[in-house]
Amino acid sequence: MKHIYITTPIYYPNSDPHIGTAYTTCIADFLARYYKQRNYDVFFMTGNDENSIKVYETAQNLKIDTPTYINQMAELFKQIWQKLSIEYDKFIRTTDDYHIKTVEFVFNKLYEKGYIYKSHYEGWYCKSCETFWTKTKVSENRICPNIECQKPLEIVKEDNYFFRLSAFQEKLLKFYEQNPETIFPKSRYNEIVSFIKMGLQDISVSRKNVEWGIKVPFDKEYTIYVWIDALTNYISGIGYPDNFLEHYWHNSYHIMGKDIIRFHAVIWPSILMALDLNLPKKIIAHGWLTTPENQKISKSKGGDMFNLKNFVLNKPNYLIMGLRYYLLREGSFGEDIPVSLERFQQVYNSELANNIGNLVSRVLALTQKNLDSIVYKKSEFSFIHNFSQKTINDFESSVENFEFSKSMDSLIDLANFLNKKIEENRPWELANDKESLNKLMFELIYGIIFIAKLIYPVLPYISSKILDQLGIGDLNIDEKVLDKIEVRYRESLFPVLRSNADMV
Ligand SMILES: [Zn+2]
Repeated sequence: MKHIYITTPIYYPNSDPHIGTAYTTCIADFLARYYKQRNYDVFFMTGNDENSIKVYETAQNLKIDTPTYINQMAELFKQIWQKLSIEYDKFIRTTDDYHIKTVEFVFNKLYEKGYIYKSHYEGWYCKSCETFWTKTKVSENRICPNIECQKPLEIVKEDNYFFRLSAFQEKLLKFYEQNPETIFPKSRYNEIVSFIKMGLQDISVSRKNVEWGIKVPFDKEYTIYVWIDALTNYISGIGYPDNFLEHYWHNSYHIMGKDIIRFHAVIWPSILMALDLNLPKKIIAHGWLTTPENQKISKSKGGDMFNLKNFVLNKPNYLIMGLRYYLLREGSFGEDIPVSLERFQQVYNSELANNIGNLVSRVLALTQKNLDSIVYKKSEFSFIHNFSQKTINDFESSVENFEFSKSMDSLIDLANFLNKKIEENRPWELANDKESLNKLMFELIYGIIFIAKLIYPVLPYISSKILDQLGIGDLNIDEKVLDKIEVRYRESLFPVLRSNADMV
């Protein structure tokens, strides 16, 4: 059996999940479901990064004790992911005991091997980003170079623990030259390789006198920096070191936004090399969701037009499925993607309501009305086989190349093709020719079952709803063996959206 391990980054629970986090998580869920459906043994993990000082400060500001706060936030994240049909195998929290033990083990091991050492540090520090900035990056006004932050920097003079990142420059370059397919998309690969070529400097991996986080095991004045702690979740979550599920680790896919690719493609692989572990199989960076004017949509700028929490907790399932579809469908995966409610409505109406939804509704209604709800397989198919195998091939190759918009094209093409067959064969004129009508409707319903299976990774709720209407309980059913299908009931899959008001 083939194994695959799919991860999202762990999210800071100092604010609610927003559309950007939902985007990453929906992509990961799509891939996890896609591979599960194709008989891979999949392990899909997401979770929360709870050891950040930002999380602690947020709890303080809210006058809630930190453990209570992070518990509440973990429940909120889980609730939102459940509503979005995110089917993870594990929800990791970095305050979990096993994770803390693994981080301590990793820190000790790196120290013993000489990859972590103590040294004096003097330089600029952003408390909000928990990041040290080198002189070259800091301009005269001494504000944080992170454009999302831009808060005043403070000067820090203290002894600190450093990770010997510089030791991995050549090894990393060699690895990426030999395995260029590791990083997607190619533009990010180029960015990472030229970043490494500019020279890697050792990085600080501890903070002194911080109240929250995992302590350096042999020097309790220091807390382990959140990035070492956070990145380690990818192996602590699958049992490293004592119960390490290596069969998953051998085929690991990390999915993330492009803003954190350097941590994943430079620091993390160096830590793994230092631990003598395999590097990730794929490091997949998506672009940002932007406004139609190409402004990044971010929680800090209050631009979450979808108001994700409200949307996901209060809207009907067909709209939530519509959002999953829209996020995969729009733009070119890997690039920045402009999104808007207007565009969401357009895509939803034309591709889901008026195409897939309408197809299923028409075929089921005609079968109920003119064939007493039952169709039989009595003769060979005439058109579906011409299209179905090609659709599967196109769909699979585009998914595996991360061309998700193209994958959605394959689905829509198939639904278009079946809708066209209805127009050509005019089943409403065949009410008195039951035999021809039965033949046509059986083939159309067969096509619909085919679509229901294909859309499962992106529209899982809709997939099971279609099959349910046809009395089919098993997604893995082999449609070829069906010789009788009964329409049990009929319910609109995607009601047409008349205005924005239906969405917000
Ligand atoms: Zn900052």
